[in-house]
Amino acid sequence: MDTADVQGDLEDILLTPEQISTRIAEIAREIESDLEGETPLLVGVLRGAVMVMADLSRELRLPLEMDWMAVSSYGNDHKSSGVVKILKDLDTAMEGRHVLIVEDIVDSGLTLSWLLENFRSRGAQSLRVMTLLRKPDAMTVDVPLDYVGFDIPNKFVVGYGLDYANRYRSLTSVAVLKPEVYGGNPP
Ligand code: 5GP
Repeated sequence: MDTADVQGDLEDILLTPEQISTRIAEIAREIESDLEGETPLLVGVLRGAVMVMADLSRELRLPLEMDWMAVSSYGNDHKSSGVVKILKDLDTAMEGRHVLIVEDIVDSGLTLSWLLENFRSRGAQSLRVMTLLRKPDAMTVDVPLDYVGFDIPNKFVVGYGLDYANRYRSLTSVAVLKPEVYGGNPP
């Protein structure tokens, strides 16, 4: 879906499809050099990471496997609290694998911090994290991020997999949603 289709709902286009694909290609080259000769297991966090996973995996010139995890974060006003429930676990054993977690966005960092703690007990040979977006001003925990696509302002964004009320995911850009769409307080 093009931004023109929902122009009235968007405040600002932060990232165009071209910027996103250029950056994903750069990150893919870094990952290839870090994991040369390996067959990494890419773990996508549903549902936001679907687009990043699709583009990154196809850009990588490495043999790889993909798996998916679905989690829900509990907190006040939809803000992450660090209390995470696994809605769908991995189907693949992590033991001895080089694992790359693929995320759409790291906001407070609480969800990812929980995920890393959970994954550390599963015996992966190595654990890396790639996120397309990071909000440095919102991070409340220090999570190690190996590959970051873009640092963005602390605003609520949609598109390229990211939703509001399950909409806007298919937008090819990343855009700031107008506050009046969600009625004031960020979701
Ligand atoms: P964290 O635990 O890092 O605070 O939040 C992680 C989750 O909150 C993300 O995976 C995403 O689902 C949601 N989130 C945080 N910021 C945004 C945003 O700007 N837009 C959207 N659509 N979701 C966000």
